[in-house]
Amino acid sequence: MDVIDIPLVLAWVREIAAAVEQQEARLTELDSAIGDGDHGSNLRRGFTAVLAALDTLDEPASVGAVLTRTGSTLISKVGGASGPLYGSAFRAMGAALPGETADPAEFAAALAAGLAAIRKLGAAEPGDKTVVDAWTPALAAFERTADTGLAAAAGSAAEAAAQGVLDTVPLQARKGRASYLGPRSVGHPDPGAASTELIFRALATALGRLKPSG
Ligand SMILES: [Mg+2]
Repeated sequence: MDVIDIPLVLAWVREIAAAVEQQEARLTELDSAIGDGDHGSNLRRGFTAVLAALDTLDEPASVGAVLTRTGSTLISKVGGASGPLYGSAFRAMGAALPGETADPAEFAAALAAGLAAIRKLGAAEPGDKTVVDAWTPALAAFERTADTGLAAAAGSAAEAAAQGVLDTVPLQARKGRASYLGPRSVGHPDPGAASTELIFRALATALGRLKPSG
């Protein structure tokens, strides 16, 4: 059965933590260009805390329990905007996945709930040069390809997120600290969109490794 189960969702979160650690310097560099340069270190601290929190979560009862714990930890441990935004997204995804497994349609609905939480908290629209500009096309790609299987859908979502990051380059930021720069925010990728790409890439990696397609 093509489902996301508890070991797989744990692997996803651990892949995110590994990617954040590996890409910390790059995220910091991106945030230094148009923000305050703390995005890499904030996320790294957050996901280090998430790994510790998941180690103490024995026998999670549902896929959602893992994501809810992840979100709550990010909210309590990460400063700046990214902790509350990603934390709310993971909590919303957790609430949407009460079962021991999630099929592609259920997982797509959870990703949509995550995006809705981000948009609500951040009051951000597509084109504002934020996380939303990577998560929105990633979700659309996942939904479009969900019936081809989870691994393929996650791969499509990761590619769409990457394109979403590139598409933030010419945008002028209208939300977050980068918006203080006005036109000077043009010409740089959004660091939040870049970290969202990592989240979707990590999903594709986890699915590719644990559940080879075909
Ligand atoms: Mg920052």
